Amino acid sequence: MNWRFWAGLSGDRLRIVAAYLLLLLVVQAVAALLVHLAINRHAVRTVAIELETADRVLRGLVADGAAHTPPPDLATLAATSERLTGLHAAVLRQDELAGWQFARPSRLPQPVQKALLDEMRAGPAAAPMQPLLSSTWLMHVVVLPGQGADTGVRIVLVDSITDAAAALAWLQVALLALGGALLVVFGCLGVYTANWIARPLVVLGVSARKLAAGDYTGTISLTGPREVQELAQTFEAMRTAIQQRERRIRDLGSTDSLTALPNRARFRTDLKTEIERTLGEGGKPCSVLVMDLDRFKRVNDVLGPRYGDKLLRHVADRLRQALGSADVLARLGGDEFAVLLPGHDVDGARAVAARIAQALREPAQIGEQTVDISASLGIAVCPQHGSDADRLVGRAEQAMLEAKRQTSGVSVYRDDLSSAEDSDLGLLTELRRAVDVNQLRLVLQPKVDLSTGRVTGAEALVRWMHPERGELLPASFIPFAEQSGVISDITRWVIQRSMLACRRMRKQGLPIRISLNLSTRDLLNDRLAHEIADLIERIKVKPEWLVFEITESVLMEDPERARRTLDQLNTLGVKLSIDDFGTGYSSLGYLKRLPVHELKIDRSFVMNMDQDVHDAKIVRSTIDLAHNLGLKVVAEGLESERHWKLLGALNCDEAQGYFVSRPVAEDDFVAWAQTWQAPVNDGLNLPTLYADIV
Ligand code: C2E
Ligand code: CA
Ligand code: CA
Repeated sequence: MNWRFWAGLSGDRLRIVAAYLLLLLVVQAVAALLVHLAINRHAVRTVAIELETADRVLRGLVADGAAHTPPPDLATLAATSERLTGLHAAVLRQDELAGWQFARPSRLPQPVQKALLDEMRAGPAAAPMQPLLSSTWLMHVVVLPGQGADTGVRIVLVDSITDAAAALAWLQVALLALGGALLVVFGCLGVYTANWIARPLVVLGVSARKLAAGDYTGTISLTGPREVQELAQTFEAMRTAIQQRERRIRDLGSTDSLTALPNRARFRTDLKTEIERTLGEGGKPCSVLVMDLDRFKRVNDVLGPRYGDKLLRHVADRLRQALGSADVLARLGGDEFAVLLPGHDVDGARAVAARIAQALREPAQIGEQTVDISASLGIAVCPQHGSDADRLVGRAEQAMLEAKRQTSGVSVYRDDLSSAEDSDLGLLTELRRAVDVNQLRLVLQPKVDLSTGRVTGAEALVRWMHPERGELLPASFIPFAEQSGVISDITRWVIQRSMLACRRMRKQGLPIRISLNLSTRDLLNDRLAHEIADLIERIKVKPEWLVFEITESVLMEDPERARRTLDQLNTLGVKLSIDDFGTGYSSLGYLKRLPVHELKIDRSFVMNMDQDVHDAKIVRSTIDLAHNLGLKVVAEGLESERHWKLLGALNCDEAQGYFVSRPVAEDDFVAWAQTWQAPVNDGLNLPTLYADIV
């Protein structure tokens, strides 16, 4: 019987055992009582028989004694009888004054003597045998033949029932010993039975509590009666069902449905565990590698989201093959993946990054299409770069963005990345709100006809009145807006605002066109033309009052799609302009096939043309070629009167620049136009170099 047998003997099981033992005790007590009564009865009978025998012996003695002369006295008879039977034979004499008295000294104990005298004095005995001292003794008055009631002398035989019962005391001792042994045996039996009955219930109870606490491990099986086994089987079936359901739910919450990889939440949990291990073991670092595909947005935009999904699955497969079994690969979202590398320091992580780059080297062949894949990777190491899961992933992401900026492929986190990147991210969050909370302002920069000097139009430019940083120029937020998609909100705001300004100024007698800038994303938006048509309709402006400027580089990103949007815009009746011309590589031959009306020579050529004859030549040939193609030419970056005269001499149609005016607030534009005075064209004073140009 081992400790388990007794262990946990509490509560119900203790009660079962106690009940067992109590029952046994009652049975034993009853048995002991019965035995005690039986012994007593037996003793009384034995003593009675002995007293009767002694009575007969006495009578015999009396009969024998009658033959003698003189006959023996009662005292002698009593002494002889005592000797022969071993009983007490008391001789009593009735005294006139004191009543019955012992005629000779008796060896009986004092209380017995007293009880005997009391009994004799009470009167003649009711029965031949008379109990004394609560039936512990028995007395018998011998009535001898010829002995009348008047002799005044009696022989009384007395014997102890207790002594007679003592002969059977061993029986009670044996019974007691047996009872003790039975108690022990039954005690053990009780514990065993209690365990046997209660154990399945206890096991099931523990299992149920485990299930309730969300622990579904460990199978439930029990030996014992068939019912118990069936109950255990039911419990086990329930446990596995809950476990499977739980696992399914957990998997759904922690798996990316597209690639079946762990998702960001799961990655975070795994990373936390790994960080704890790293900090616990001490000395063994772990690394986080974040990877973002290059140009994925373009693939998605150009080939469609379905193709994008296929590509992501394809990339996930390649990554799986490139990684070790201990590495945890996850998709954080979009085209961003992460790898947890246990036990890898910077060098180890770099080696894995190189393996990934190698794995992505081959172009992906999906359906008819083949696309080049490349990615930018960022590395952050625990504990070197942080020991918080979110921070570590954030830092790996910062390193990844740095790799993207540098087009270096891989970059390891550095402290100086954090501050710049934090502020960029903060800015982006604020920018999303800027449109809603009306922090944008519209400024207009005039466009002037070089031959008449009249104001013909204005370019709409956006400003962000940042609550803390003050007025921000587009260069500091338009690139972010393009990356994050906020640009479409900004574009809509600017177009709407410009249309309203244009209509207002025309009502005030200033018949100008408004030029609007479109970004890459805008041009790849299939609904752009539709949205513009809607605004034209609602704000009630004429399409020909609007000019949309598209940079060369935007056209080259996705010529097909850009072309489609341009055609749609053209159909609307708005004018189209090629912005920053000269900075890209588009040939005039290509531009010829586009439905454009205007060409804006980039300010980098214009600003230097009065110093650099080479730039002047470019400007001149651009103007000539554009005119040949039937396009109007606008020069940007006109900063001086010399520029004005030179461009006039080169037959440029219109100009825009600080010399005419810096961009002005939309409400101040009409006032500015009224004060504007074009310079008088009184001839050029140029170096001889320019002689053959002009
Ligand atoms: P851009 O379309 O080439 O706009 C002309 C830029 O040249 C403006 O800068 C203007 O202030 C500046 N500029 C005008 N005249 C001169 C001059 O004589 N000398 C010099 N050095 N610069 C001159 P801004 O307003 O900072 O805009 C910068 C760029 O931001 C714009 O270049 C345009 O690409 C973009 N942008 C501005 N507003 C918007 C907008 O609403 N939507 C989009 N998508 N882009 C915008
Ligand atoms: Ca522009
Ligand atoms: Ca420009």
